[in-house]
Amino acid sequence: MMQDFLDSNITYLSGVGPKRAELLNSELNISTFRDLLYYFPYRYVDRTRFYKIAELDPDLPFVQVKGYIRGYSTEGFGSGKRLVAEFYDETGAMKLVWFKGIKWITASYTTGIEYIVFGKPGVFNGVVNIIHPEIEASEKASQRINSALQAQYNTTEKLKAQFITSKTISKLTGNLLKQIKFRIPETLPAYIVSGYHLMELHEALHKIHFPGNVQEMEKSRYRFRFEELFYIELNLLRYKTYRNQKNKGFVFSSVGENFYNFYYNNLPFSLTGAQKKVMKEIRKDLGSGRQMNRLLQGDVGSGKTLVALMSMLIAVDNGYQACLMAPTEILAMQHYQTISKMLEGISLKVSLLTGSSKKSARESVDKALQDGSLNILIGTHALIEENVRFLNLGLVIIDEQHRFGVAQRARLWEKSSNPPHVLVMTATPIPRTLAMTLYGDLDVSVIDELPPGRVPVKTMHYLDSERNKVFGFLRSQIALGRQIFVVYPLIKESEKMDYKDLEDGWDTISRVFPAPKYCISIVHGKMTPADKESSMRLFREGYAHILVATTVIEVGVDIPNATVMVIESAERFGLSQLHQLRGRVGRGADQSYCILMSADKLTREASKRLEVMVRSSDGFEIAEMDLQLRGPGDLEGTQQSGIPFDLRIASLAKDGQVIEYVRGIAEKILDGDPQLDEPQNAILRTELKRLFSQKQSWSSIS
Ligand code: ADP
Ligand code: MG
Repeated sequence: MMQDFLDSNITYLSGVGPKRAELLNSELNISTFRDLLYYFPYRYVDRTRFYKIAELDPDLPFVQVKGYIRGYSTEGFGSGKRLVAEFYDETGAMKLVWFKGIKWITASYTTGIEYIVFGKPGVFNGVVNIIHPEIEASEKASQRINSALQAQYNTTEKLKAQFITSKTISKLTGNLLKQIKFRIPETLPAYIVSGYHLMELHEALHKIHFPGNVQEMEKSRYRFRFEELFYIELNLLRYKTYRNQKNKGFVFSSVGENFYNFYYNNLPFSLTGAQKKVMKEIRKDLGSGRQMNRLLQGDVGSGKTLVALMSMLIAVDNGYQACLMAPTEILAMQHYQTISKMLEGISLKVSLLTGSSKKSARESVDKALQDGSLNILIGTHALIEENVRFLNLGLVIIDEQHRFGVAQRARLWEKSSNPPHVLVMTATPIPRTLAMTLYGDLDVSVIDELPPGRVPVKTMHYLDSERNKVFGFLRSQIALGRQIFVVYPLIKESEKMDYKDLEDGWDTISRVFPAPKYCISIVHGKMTPADKESSMRLFREGYAHILVATTVIEVGVDIPNATVMVIESAERFGLSQLHQLRGRVGRGADQSYCILMSADKLTREASKRLEVMVRSSDGFEIAEMDLQLRGPGDLEGTQQSGIPFDLRIASLAKDGQVIEYVRGIAEKILDGDPQLDEPQNAILRTELKRLFSQKQSWSSIS
């Protein structure tokens, strides 16, 4: 019954009519009382602090000022037309400005009454102003629920235009809390609330909106951060337990002929310690009788391809087929070439299947897949098409996983009666605590060591105005017999402009490095696969000195003689992407260089990013910085993560410690009560169901 109350439609709250309800619903997703209570403030303003008008300047954040309206006037014309109130206190005067709702404002606020005005100060024509301030009579303000820290809520332009401001939301929430005459039932078991010193839900829901002081505010917010992350981790771990019970993995009991043949006769170098460690982890999974779901993280150049190949050989030795899926045709082709070469002299059938495979090739692949004569299939998205059927697919390897959506991966899953083992490889290191959440139900292996003899890449940052210096350097590298990548950003939203940049860049470079002395090749997304491949070949085989490209070369391309990576408009790339690109060089024994070219003027964030690149070559440190600078929302792959809703309050970037803490707690609970059958855990089941039930389809594979 009390639960029913919280589920009431928001229209039943006084102060909310059908029109407001509709807006709250469409703009903020608030449709019930509970939704409103869980619409948390994004920050708090110290309402005990008042500024004098003489103290205001546009560098201040939100401020509140007490004073009087002297009178109104209108300024400007057309869409610039605005209502201006002169507002004064004993230290001076400022302007309050409205572009909308003029009639309502002049009717509501008059001279002779003391108001509290709240907003972000700006300046126009040398006069301080606040545009669309919140405004309230001082007397009324003193009657509100008393809270020194006033909650601020995010609203939208559309809401503001209808006068649903942060203050309105605060009022509605206050009204609702006053109406709640019962104790809001807990959503965490009592032993957790008391055991981990959390504020009880009832109190926390009050204090998060109306904290009496900073401690109360922090304690209430912590309770919700804890709870949000706890349920996410509990859900992931429970899913993992469930999957392990349900899916019997194929047992690859032995390591056989092909593996040993490769290992002793074909392997051109010895494995690094990290590669050995990871192979051990994988072999253990494959022999365990459980289905493997493993994420393999390893910096660019750490030798993941080899791990993939050896894992596939184990599958083959046990009578199964294996496939390796790459995000681009170039990469698939390169994997195919590398792997075919590594398997020279070993009689296995390896084929390539991509979107541009000819019909006849496709048919023979299909046939060989189904009669079992094909052992290893390498390809792109084409592998997940309906008509590709395997006789007995035992292992799926997904390279550079962040380019594949979960749904796509799930389709691969369906290609076998029993789910195949899955190894997901990524070269984008993910901070540990983020991985716990994004890939919380996967086991994680890390290759944290590069093959020996690598010389670290030197990274430098140059401005556009220093371009001639850079060209001089490139000439000297070419004279030494080295090859050069020049990469241009390609961002979907500004594709046309980017191609223009690419073309201009190509023109300049062709002029500075003229034929026949120099040979330049180009690769970009608008070329046919055949043209791309022939350009790549020109470069790979050493004829072309310079490869001009868009980011298609970002992942995987392996050309040891290329020692210089020039990244144009580097400020437009994210850190992880820059790191990926840099990984294309430094693969041979020679000193390699990464040159970041940027505009002369940079934002602070951009120059920080470039600084990090110059300073660090550690993929995990860079990933951590990326997370701090940009937040996890921008990280590739976040959308396909295991989190089926937007986080209300916790932050994957900032709450790493909490994530680790609650994951430990969730593990302990599931160890003692895997099905959550015990009475004290009944709440956990109810909440999991409420939070995740309709949203669970993401998870069959990742
Ligand atoms: P990535 O992890 O980026 O996919 P690759 O698998 O492409 O890295 O390996 C990068 C390069 O390092 C390749 O040329 C590969 O042959 C070489 N390599 C891999 N493992 C070793 C090793 N143990 N010793 C020496 N070189 C290795
Ligand atoms: Mg690779």
